[in-house]
Amino acid sequence: MKLTHFRFETDADGIATLTWDMPGRSMNVITQEVMAELGTVVDHVVATEAIKGCVITSGKDAFSGGADLTMLQGMGMEYMKLVKSKGEEPAMQFFLEASSSLSKLYRKLETCGKPFAAAVHGTCLGGAFELALSCHYRVLSDNDKTRVGLPEIKVGLFPGAGGTQRVARLMQTGDALQMLFKGEQIKPAAAKSMNLAHAVAPREKIVETAKEWIRAGGSAKAPWDIEGFKNPSNKVHSPAGMMIWPPANAIYRRETQDNYPAAKAILQACYEGLQLPMDLALRVESRYFAHILRTPEAAAMIRSLFMSKGELEKGARRPAKVPPLKIKRVGIVGAGFMGAGIAYVSAQAGLNVVLVDRDQEAADKGKAYSHKLMTDQVMKGRAKTADRDALLARIHATPDYNALKGCDIVIEAVFEDRAVKAEVIKKVQAAIGRRTIFASNTSTLPISSLAENFERQSQFIGIHFFSPVEKMMLVEIIMGKRTGDRALATALDFVRAIRKTPIVVNDCRGFFANRCVLNYIREGHLMLAEGVPAAMIENMAKKAGMPVGPLSLNDEVALDLGWKILQATKKDLGPEAIDAKQEALLKTMVVDLERFGRKNGKGFYDYAPTGKKLWPGLKDLQPTKLNADTLDKQELVDRLLVVQALEAARTVEEKVITDVREADVGAILGFGFAPYTGGPLSYIDRMGTKAFVAQCEKLAAKHGDRFKPNKLLRAMARKSETFYGRFNPYKSAA
Ligand code: NAD
Repeated sequence: MKLTHFRFETDADGIATLTWDMPGRSMNVITQEVMAELGTVVDHVVATEAIKGCVITSGKDAFSGGADLTMLQGMGMEYMKLVKSKGEEPAMQFFLEASSSLSKLYRKLETCGKPFAAAVHGTCLGGAFELALSCHYRVLSDNDKTRVGLPEIKVGLFPGAGGTQRVARLMQTGDALQMLFKGEQIKPAAAKSMNLAHAVAPREKIVETAKEWIRAGGSAKAPWDIEGFKNPSNKVHSPAGMMIWPPANAIYRRETQDNYPAAKAILQACYEGLQLPMDLALRVESRYFAHILRTPEAAAMIRSLFMSKGELEKGARRPAKVPPLKIKRVGIVGAGFMGAGIAYVSAQAGLNVVLVDRDQEAADKGKAYSHKLMTDQVMKGRAKTADRDALLARIHATPDYNALKGCDIVIEAVFEDRAVKAEVIKKVQAAIGRRTIFASNTSTLPISSLAENFERQSQFIGIHFFSPVEKMMLVEIIMGKRTGDRALATALDFVRAIRKTPIVVNDCRGFFANRCVLNYIREGHLMLAEGVPAAMIENMAKKAGMPVGPLSLNDEVALDLGWKILQATKKDLGPEAIDAKQEALLKTMVVDLERFGRKNGKGFYDYAPTGKKLWPGLKDLQPTKLNADTLDKQELVDRLLVVQALEAARTVEEKVITDVREADVGAILGFGFAPYTGGPLSYIDRMGTKAFVAQCEKLAAKHGDRFKPNKLLRAMARKSETFYGRFNPYKSAA
């Protein structure tokens, strides 16, 4: 047996060990070759009488991240080719065959007649966990790095290699659906208590534990292949089943607004599959999988949330000629809300942090935030006290700017005030060495103008974090007019070190994310001013796929901040740059009524310890009241998405965004732009620029110039171009 991706050896007891260890890769992935070799191994184990059973393990620090999604993309392309050359039916036959081959391979292993065990250490996700699930026994290492799970839903897919059927037969249906919907990574002890694993053992003992199970006569039959098997939640059509399925359907609708075909397919595959024997159930799953793979939602989500996100994290925008820098020491000036969060994520990544504020007390307060976050982790059993102490030891809180000497990068997060920032920049400059990069976390001030306070302007850059820093995965890097390659490379190396996703944008008012999101919030305000019931605005935003409605979002970021930004824009650009109706609404809320949002317990919502509800007084601010029953709901949904997508298109025209991947990834990670669309530019591409421009013109005629399509979009519409076609991010690499 000739194997490239595995090692195979058999011990004196006749127990084989198959070690998955792909050459030249840091992580094992499922490819066509891996599948072919696994099939050969199963045949060999079955055909060799002396082999009693087989343990599958990994030779790497992780088991495997699952299937190679580019392989799935390739299948999609092959399908499209076949549709053109041979027609829909043969193409579909090929596609169904190809997309069900992994499921068939796993079923072959499961029913081969000899016991297979999976000994798992490290990450074991997606298709790799489905392999483990098809083994008759699973032992997981008790290591911190070990995680199992089926995260496919996060890229618009669902587990198509038996995952839905095996999980639904291992645990109560409600729990199984929840696990499949959430796509979470599960720790070893939890996996065992969920019945997803049989044993947990120290890393060095997992293979031996699995062998011991085989030696002791472990059964080569999965529970569902044993006569008399009963589903953990009994029959689908039973009184118990009826307690599960109608609410499951309702929860699915509430959580997805029917925007995610993959979530619906999970529900359908489990509902139908649980009524069938395993082989038929797997065929049902395969059919749904083939359908989902061809949905535009899956294509868009795989592209943005897997491919593009991964490429940006690996440094797609990093200037190649600057040698990689291992960031060791980072300075943060301003230990307030943002600075404290940046200090925490930096220390969490193992970097040494110098945290400076105006006095010792303020600096200590910033450091205390890390203490609080780590204590919460300790309380939840996710960290040890020693981890907390080690992390805190990496943060040096001080009012002394001289401590910044030797930092690779210094980030300022002081008050959003030009004069304060100018003074801080000068003080930092006097303290740091000539090679240290200076970054500002400003959210509104142009980077190029702040850079004028710094002598070496090529070493000045913007690093815009989102709040709360420890939760938000996006970081916007802003290039000032004179920012140089080394500053960009260092900023990207820093973002990589703290394991966040960077986008690189050119300097402008609001940069990228805030520009788009402020339009979203404004649309909510204008709908309210028109007389649309507030609850309807919030619900239509959810229907559009946004995580929170515009009014709720505005409450979170603070209404008075919105008011300040509006006033600053008016002062800088003139009254025509802002919307008078929005200004009037915010004036009433902020200046007259002092409703600032969540921070003072009253905004568009009222906040009580028991929860929040829309402020009933909003109705009194609406001179006209529109009837919810007669409103065009789809138009409200369209307005909320189009207004953001149009702004994203403008940032491309203005060259604020220079790589279309960044607009899409940035919008989903930064402000939750409807993920099923793949991001605002993918949303336009899917609709077609012609249709999008027509949509904008229709909305502009009815609601005003803010919907007027820009020049670039009109030019693209004339030629039926797409963003990913016209601005193909891979063209220069090809
Ligand atoms: P904050 O008021 O919570 O913190 C500012 C900190 O800076 C305070 O601890 C203050 O003592 C300190 N400070 C002020 N002057 C100083 C000086 N001369 N020397 C040293 N320290 C000084 O503000 P924040 O919300 O953390 O915002 C900080 C920056 O981050 C601002 O530029 C803001 O625009 C930007 N930002 C904020 C958010 C957000 O959601 N709050 C998001 C992105 C970016």
